[in-house]
Amino acid sequence: MAQQIDAIQRMVNQLSRLPGIGPKTAQRLAYFIIAQSEEQVRELAASIYQGKKAIRYCKQCGNYAEGELCSICANTNRNNSQICVVRDPRDVFAMERTRDYNGLYHVLHGTISPMEGIGPGDIRIKELLERLGDTSVTEVILATNPDIEGEATASYIARLIKPMGVTVTRIAHGVPVGGDLEYTDEVTLSKAMEGRREM
Ligand SMILES: [Zn+2]
Repeated sequence: MAQQIDAIQRMVNQLSRLPGIGPKTAQRLAYFIIAQSEEQVRELAASIYQGKKAIRYCKQCGNYAEGELCSICANTNRNNSQICVVRDPRDVFAMERTRDYNGLYHVLHGTISPMEGIGPGDIRIKELLERLGDTSVTEVILATNPDIEGEATASYIARLIKPMGVTVTRIAHGVPVGGDLEYTDEVTLSKAMEGRREM
């Protein structure tokens, strides 16, 4: 019996490492998984592992991709004159949920944060500048979060790219100050995009 409890405890320990999963939820998930058929559990485990193995970063924008390019960069119906700059792939997902934006993205993979020792060279700003060498881009929309790091990052990027003759806009403050794009509802995010202002 003790052996079985150890095995459950190992599952609970692993599951409770997931974001938003406390020990109680982890325990519930562990019991749920144990009650599934072996086949179902194998599929669950395989989907997690294969997902991890298959997903890489898009060569162009830094979003999650299964091939060289993500599905957005690979889509020729997207408007390639606009680039929306976000912090995380999760923010791309949030913007896509609004279904309003048809341009491309650029994922920074972080924001400038002197407190955490993250400088401009640590996030994908150089890659953004390289993309702007392509003259088809006419507008860069800065959609980093409206917190201190997000604002500092937006200002820094705006200063760099304005001299390149590209229109630089910042999403409006429909997104609550200090808020997270990821957790902002679609309507608010749509409005924030619509009300964007030139920097
Ligand atoms: Zn991409």
